[in-house]
Amino acid sequence: MARTMTNKSGWIGKVFFLDLLHGLSLTLRYMFARTVTHMYPDHEKWIPYSRHRGHHFIKTNDEGDVNCVACELCSKICPCDCIIVIPFEDAKGNRRPQVFDIDLARCLYCGLCEDACPADAIKLGQEYEISATTTEALVVHLEDLIAAPGKAENGGQVMPAKLITPDKTALKKTGKDTRTHSVTVEGTLKAAEGYDWWQRIRK
Ligand code: SF4
Ligand code: SF4
Repeated sequence: MARTMTNKSGWIGKVFFLDLLHGLSLTLRYMFARTVTHMYPDHEKWIPYSRHRGHHFIKTNDEGDVNCVACELCSKICPCDCIIVIPFEDAKGNRRPQVFDIDLARCLYCGLCEDACPADAIKLGQEYEISATTTEALVVHLEDLIAAPGKAENGGQVMPAKLITPDKTALKKTGKDTRTHSVTVEGTLKAAEGYDWWQRIRK
């Protein structure tokens, strides 16, 4: 932007420091713009656009079987070598994955596995809250991939959310915290009371 402006204004721009003035005016504008503080994760969370590539999920058909035919193409094309597929033949004589592991710690979220899949089975969803304290916990299995959320109907919004805090009562009684430490979205997308974050920041 600044380079284009210099080219356009030529020596006049250089003499009158137009680039500098343009930068200062931008700073000044943001000084008086409305402050936007994203209250993540306690009160709200961002739903990414549908093109976002997050946690993988495996699609299932109407009969509840996975679409995956364990052809291993995703595993072969993966540049990080982070997918392990071991096929087996199910009771109906279909080739299915017995083991389907993805090491999310190595994954680039490039989407090549999704592009290579001939059965429209593997997709990269919108889940981005996948942090863990050990690398072992980042290896997801077939059941995790089936249960993982898919694409939201419409992303690009801030949703009401709440943080699940440690269950202190359960911790005292059993020594174990039975609750998952993650963020859940309250309500559905249709019931969203969020606002368009990008619209607000541009005001
Ligand atoms: S998104 Fe890319 S890096 Fe990750 S599992 Fe798929 S192909 Fe491999
Ligand atoms: S997810 Fe797709 S590409 Fe990967 S093994 Fe299954 S059918 Fe093949």
